[in-house]
Amino acid sequence: MTTDLPLFEQGRHLLSVSQFDRENLRTLFDLADAVDPIAKREAVCTVLDGAMLCSLFFEPSTRTRLSFESAFQRLGGEVTTTTGFTFSSMAKGESIADTSRVVSGYSDVLVVRHPDEGSVARFAAAAMVPVINAGDGAGEHPSQALLDVYTLGKELAARGKEVDGCRIAILGDLKYGRTVHSLMKLMSLHDDVTFTLFSPPGLRLPLEVEQYVTARRHTVQVMDTVVDAVRGADVIYATRVQRERMTDEMSQADARGDLLNWSMLAEADNLGAILMHPLPRDSRPDAYDLSGDVDDLPGLAIFHQTDNGVNVRMAIFLTALGVSLEAVRLTSKQRPWKATLRP
Ligand code: ASP
Repeated sequence: MTTDLPLFEQGRHLLSVSQFDRENLRTLFDLADAVDPIAKREAVCTVLDGAMLCSLFFEPSTRTRLSFESAFQRLGGEVTTTTGFTFSSMAKGESIADTSRVVSGYSDVLVVRHPDEGSVARFAAAAMVPVINAGDGAGEHPSQALLDVYTLGKELAARGKEVDGCRIAILGDLKYGRTVHSLMKLMSLHDDVTFTLFSPPGLRLPLEVEQYVTARRHTVQVMDTVVDAVRGADVIYATRVQRERMTDEMSQADARGDLLNWSMLAEADNLGAILMHPLPRDSRPDAYDLSGDVDDLPGLAIFHQTDNGVNVRMAIFLTALGVSLEAVRLTSKQRPWKATLRP
């Protein structure tokens, strides 16, 4: 992870969660709260009228791309997008630097996802406009961590708790799961967090992430079983095995059945925990992910995360482009219609 990046503010790229301290994190979350009526489509806003987002996704995505694009459009901006290598000039051998320079001539901000760690920073180095990292290989996924901590704060507050002092179990592919790396680092801005970790053999958390967290005086406990990891946790964050980043041999190893299901939570006496997941959840048989049999539990927060992603990504754009809340208010109006389904 790059540690010498400037704090995230107007005119800056967003490449890593290391660009946050408690203060600019709070400012971003306050903005995310303030745009809620626009995110929920109760109000219409045109503050980004004439602005262009270019989203470049060289890896599969549903939520991240659509929520970034929705966020920009809800603020009144336009979006142009390209997905996959096949339909971009990279298939003809164009370099990251050339692609970035060309595309940033067409847009006011770029959102980029790419399979290689560090690649989005290379886009940023050649760009003329702010670049937002939407996931660089097994590296980082800062916007996901921001929406995770935003959601976590709200879920804990509803239970009279805070991120400070909380106990979070993180399960699954901790080696290749970039959302875990970014989440643990961002949570480290808080005080006295206990992380209880469980992963299949071979998919353990990189030492660098563990050291980052423990150097900030948080506790990391590596557990032998899922049940031990989730026992007593306020929050459980489950992740998918990132098979696309592994050789076939590794992808078959030790990861079968459910990673976490209702019975395991019952055994740990923790059916009330907050349940989070960055999604997608792999729902194929034997995929070794969060089972669907937990979906009726009261703490299920996975769709709160996806909804909150729009607010947080709106706040990211407003910050990068230097748009004030006052400008947002002056260009917003109530929407005279509502999309509902009759029962
Ligand atoms: N959507 C997340 C990511 O892009 C998590 C995942 O794919 O498992 O990293």
